[in-house]
Amino acid sequence: NAIIEMTDVRKTYASGSLEVEALRGVSLRIAQGEYVAVVGPSGSGKSTLMHIIGCLDVPTSGDYVLAGGRVTELAETHLAEIRNRRIGFVFQQFNLLASMTALRNVELPLAYAGVPVAERRRRAEESLARVGLSDRLTHRPGELSGGQQQRVAVARALVTDPALILADEPTGNLDSTASADVLALFDELHAMGRTILLITHEAEVARRATRSVLIRDGQLVAS
Ligand code: ADP
Ligand code: ADP
Repeated sequence: NAIIEMTDVRKTYASGSLEVEALRGVSLRIAQGEYVAVVGPSGSGKSTLMHIIGCLDVPTSGDYVLAGGRVTELAETHLAEIRNRRIGFVFQQFNLLASMTALRNVELPLAYAGVPVAERRRRAEESLARVGLSDRLTHRPGELSGGQQQRVAVARALVTDPALILADEPTGNLDSTASADVLALFDELHAMGRTILLITHEAEVARRATRSVLIRDGQLVAS
């Protein structure tokens, strides 16, 4: 049962009169419940791949099917909807809203999806409990440690019950203790059956996944 099915995906950027081929025929299949790391050096195409998998951009050619739906040629409005409903994003910079409490931050994706207020609140509390932050509901990001902020971000990623959690260098801004914390949380989510795709340049982080995929010069070179 595949969550991600990419076939011969290419992505070309126009750069003045030149063309940069950021992805050169990427095929990738990720089954439900897998925990996969994509590793590669700077400039290898990781961000481009992440943007396509995350429905933030579309391939120049090739085919991409996410959770049974073909993404390749959808309009931007539809992409935004898929992104909000099917994917939970975790970023290196946490991307929390500084003026909002942890609870409100976690409620946001549900607000975008039109979920009623009471249910939003219940689900956000549940999600924060799952990441061990029941005692921090009314704290703002600035009152939390980096590791706690990233756990809020993970709670926000989980709250829509997404088909895929897409994490881009999630430990890149954390010290080793907080990194270990967040990686342990991913281990737990994986054990609970979540599908996780983690993008990293750190081999040590990639080792936590059950499968690693190496990208180099826009091509997957090994699994
Ligand atoms: P990584 O995330 O692994 O560092 P990227 O996906 O950002 O790799 O970049 C892959 C290649 O595509 C690089 O050669 C980069 O310079 C080029 N690239 C990325 N984004 C753009 C863009 N918007 N315009 C032109 N070239 C780009
Ligand atoms: P839109 O502005 O197209 O409506 P949203 O702001 O609703 O998109 O974003 C939908 C999801 O995509 C959110 O989870 C958001 O964090 C993520 N997202 C938006 N922009 C980016 C980006 N540049 N890179 C990575 N993720 C993004």
